[in-house]
Amino acid sequence: MKMISLLGSTGSIGVNTLDIVRRNPDRFAVATMATGSDVELFAQQVKEFKPALISVFNPSKLAELKELLKGEDVEILSGEAGTVKVASHPDVSLVVSAIVGSAGLVPSLAAIQSGKDLALANKETLVVAGELVLREARGKVNLIPIDSEHSAILQALNGEKQERIKKIILTGSGGPFRTFSREQMENVTVKEALNHPNWSMGAKITIDSATMMNKGLEWIEAKWLFGLDTCVEIIVHPQSIIHSMIEFVDTSIMAQLGIPDMRVPIAYAMTYPDRIKCDFPSLDLAAMKQLTFEEPDYEKFPCIKLAQEALQTGQTMPAVLNAANEVAVQAFLDEAIPFQGIAEAIRTTMHNHKCHAIDSLEDVQNADRWAREEAKKLITVTH
Ligand code: NDP
Ligand code: MG
Repeated sequence: MKMISLLGSTGSIGVNTLDIVRRNPDRFAVATMATGSDVELFAQQVKEFKPALISVFNPSKLAELKELLKGEDVEILSGEAGTVKVASHPDVSLVVSAIVGSAGLVPSLAAIQSGKDLALANKETLVVAGELVLREARGKVNLIPIDSEHSAILQALNGEKQERIKKIILTGSGGPFRTFSREQMENVTVKEALNHPNWSMGAKITIDSATMMNKGLEWIEAKWLFGLDTCVEIIVHPQSIIHSMIEFVDTSIMAQLGIPDMRVPIAYAMTYPDRIKCDFPSLDLAAMKQLTFEEPDYEKFPCIKLAQEALQTGQTMPAVLNAANEVAVQAFLDEAIPFQGIAEAIRTTMHNHKCHAIDSLEDVQNADRWAREEAKKLITVTH
């Protein structure tokens, strides 16, 4: 029985993770769980999965959660300290990190430092502090990606040595605005941006997919997971059937395919290097008829290059990119800035940042805080 800690249980990845647990009660049990604020769904999950320890990040929701769980045999905490306890509980062997944003960093690090294997959906953790995280994890715990592209790369790699990789071919759907003209993109609404063609996900990553910042963040994530020197090429594949590929040094290409369902990479991360039988619908290639590919339009989607520049600059810049993006995406969702204002806010925040080296978690947190304030200031001044 694998004892799981689930961080971000009420989100899209969290709910899919619980579905895997529900379908495999002989393999997995939920030992601990954490959420942000949605205590109603959280309480239902706690009643079903019976964890011993839980935490709600938002302290103003603690009393309501306790009321909802009156009579249940569960220890209830709150705040970041609570999430950290959930992630490092002694009964846990695998932590599924599915919090959104850089808020996932401290609990993910706590999991690694207490020797837990980490199934990582929270890509922002690697974007903001890839070097720190890998330094802690390397040789001590397994760091297994949940992100479908990185899961595909891991599966295609299948134990081959990293030096045999010629390049990683990272696929992306292109999002809802792939075929829009620049003029059309000027007036897109929140509703249109939230309407992803292939995947059903949380709001933040759905907007990241619409700006294609998601592909930029994944490009950084791939560099940390599979080697900073590895060539990573982005290709748009609107059907989201090939989840990514590896070209080896002999020009042979391995691809991983499947219907777009996050439960597949989640289950793989939870059982890695093993696999379990899943009764999800199979891919019907004849019905698909064609799989198509195109170059990304870097001018229409400037966020990809901003992410690549941030990693090339290194030091605190990726943390600044990420924090500015989180603030700008929220401002767009609040209808405070237009869609194209997202890239603009990130670019100016990066431009105004004085980069410095990262030696500790505190360096990352300071850069994150600075960038959030700077991006908010820019957004207030210009809109
Ligand atoms: P959601 O917004 O659906 O869920 C986020 C979860 O994190 C919720 O449970 C939320 O709680 C919780 N949360 C937010 N802030 C905190 C905090 N400070 N402390 C503790 N919990 C918190 O996001 P997704 O599930 O879509 O995405 C999660 C992560 O996985 C992201 O990093 C995303 O990039 C990545 N990912 C997601 C994919 C997907 O298909 N959804 C695919 C690939 C990667 P509450 O709801 O209670 O506020
Ligand atoms: Mg992905």
